[in-house]
Amino acid sequence: MPKTYSLAIHGGAGTIMRSEMAADKEEAHRQALLKALKAGEIILRAGGSALDAVEAAVCSLEDCEYFNAGKGAVFTHDGTHEMDASIMCGRRVDAGAAAMVKGVKNPISLARRILDVSEHVMLCGPGARMFAREQGLEEAGPDYFYSEYRFQQLQEARARGRAQLDHSQKYGTVGAVACDRQGHLAAATSTGGLTNKKYGRIGDSPIIGAGTYANDLTCAVSCTGYGEYFLRGVVAYDLSCLMEYRGMSLEEAAHHAIHHRQLALGGDGGLIAVDANGNIALPFNSEGMYRAWVKEGEEARVGIYKE
Ligand code: ASP
Repeated sequence: MPKTYSLAIHGGAGTIMRSEMAADKEEAHRQALLKALKAGEIILRAGGSALDAVEAAVCSLEDCEYFNAGKGAVFTHDGTHEMDASIMCGRRVDAGAAAMVKGVKNPISLARRILDVSEHVMLCGPGARMFAREQGLEEAGPDYFYSEYRFQQLQEARARGRAQLDHSQKYGTVGAVACDRQGHLAAATSTGGLTNKKYGRIGDSPIIGAGTYANDLTCAVSCTGYGEYFLRGVVAYDLSCLMEYRGMSLEEAAHHAIHHRQLALGGDGGLIAVDANGNIALPFNSEGMYRAWVKEGEEARVGIYKE
């Protein structure tokens, strides 16, 4: 029986304070989130798949310089951009992921190709880049990823001698989750990781089960926050397990995963999740989380702060 679709996206969680946000910047973020939501919703409204919708929404966020993914990715310690992304199809319980990728304009499309075309789940570094090239994906040079704002962030992080979460100031990792009219689920996450990261650091975003997970039996999840905690908490899969093994609703499981398990570990961040009935949960334990969501037949909504 055809169901109604639902879609949620995020642009990172963190110390996002209303008192520190200029009105024009806030509006620009709202518009960018709505644009990405629309890019995904058009696909769902036309009867397309959740998988296509989350890829399209994340591509739109990757192309926007406000967020820490694709064009807006933060700098590594070496002054480069190393991006992580993953995508998961809840119908097939199959996934594609790319870590430490350089020079690919849309890492989420690379993750999608890995899911669809390769015989593997995860590729990293130069190998992932080579695969992207073989697949004819669009490449982009350092100029494309450069911004003065990000470069200053790197200088500050270097001066402090530590890697830092981009969105402890503002922007962040991006993600999308969707349920299509067939009741199939999908999740996608993309990030530049932490400013000033070194030693080939990889966060939770490209790790299936930590930053991203989807299974039609339970839910689709995309996380954002301090990746090390989300890795330790295996947060996205934990949420799915709370539903599958403990019979929790999406809302209960999402709340539990962020407010009990993550807080217990000391982690800061949030997630977006949908289930096959189109329910949406958007919990976070930080000051704010850029987010937007829509259910078929309802108005699209955008949130930034705790409301
Ligand atoms: N989770 C990401 C990472 O640790 C960062 C973020 O969500 O902004 O790489």
